[in-house]
Amino acid sequence: MDCPNVSAKSGIDDAGGGWSAFVFFIWRGQGKTLQYDARPLMKNGRQFTFSGQVRDNMFWTLASGVTFWTAYEVLMFWALANGHVTLLTWSTNPVWFVAFFFIIPMWESFYFYWIHRMLHIPFLYKTVHALHHRNVNVGPWSGLSMHPVEHIIYLGTVLIHFVIGAHPLHILLHLQYYTLTAATTHTGFEGMVIKDKNRLALGTFHHQMHHRYFECNYGGLELPWDKFFGSFHDGTDEADAKIKERRKRFTNS
Ligand SMILES: [Zn+2]
Ligand SMILES: [Zn+2]
Repeated sequence: MDCPNVSAKSGIDDAGGGWSAFVFFIWRGQGKTLQYDARPLMKNGRQFTFSGQVRDNMFWTLASGVTFWTAYEVLMFWALANGHVTLLTWSTNPVWFVAFFFIIPMWESFYFYWIHRMLHIPFLYKTVHALHHRNVNVGPWSGLSMHPVEHIIYLGTVLIHFVIGAHPLHILLHLQYYTLTAATTHTGFEGMVIKDKNRLALGTFHHQMHHRYFECNYGGLELPWDKFFGSFHDGTDEADAKIKERRKRFTNS
C-alpha cells in the first residue's frame, strides 16, 4: 500500500471530521442551535476503545476507514490502468461522463440503504455493526467509525465501476463523497447556522433517530428510500407507533 496516499486520505478525513468537530464542538460556533441532543459526547465510557468516544471514533476512522478507503482507491486505479474497468472519457462519451457525476450519489444512497438494512440482521449487527452503534449520541468522527468488515462492505459501493466503467474523476468523487458525507450526517446538528439562518442542511436528525431507535431511517435523505420501504421515522408519535408495529412483526416472524 502506498503510504503517501494513506497520509493524504488521513489529511482529507482530518479536514472533514476535524473541520466539523472544530466548528460545532470546539469553537461551538452556533452554541446549541439546531443541535438534536445537547448532551456532550462521552469523555469516558468502557464501551469505547481507549475509554472515550472521540478517541474511539478517531481511531476506527483513521486506522481502519482511511486504510480501506485508500485500498479501494488503489484497486480501482489499478483496474482502470490495466483495462479491468472500462475507461469512460469526456472525448469518447461526454453525456455519460457528465451523467455519472449525478448518478453516482443516487447509486450510493440506494446501496447504503440496503447494506445498512443487511447490517441490522442480528448476527451481523452483533459482530460488526454494533461498533458504529456504540454512539447513541453522535459527533462528526462517529460517521466513519466502523468495524473493518463494515468498512469493506460500505466502501464496496465503488466496485460497481467494474460493471459500468469510470473515469478516475468518478472514482475520486465516488469515494470522497461517500466518506465525507458520513462526517456531515453525524455532526449532531441539523444544519449550519450562518448569520442566524440555517445555510447548510446536514440531514443529521434523520440519522440520529436511527442511532436512537435502531430499526428505522437506514438511508440518507438524498432519496426517500425509507419512505419507499416503510422504515421512515420523523420523530412524531405516529411514526413511532408505526416503527414499533414493524419491529413487532419482525421479531414475531
Ligand atoms: Zn451512523
Ligand atoms: Zn445502523
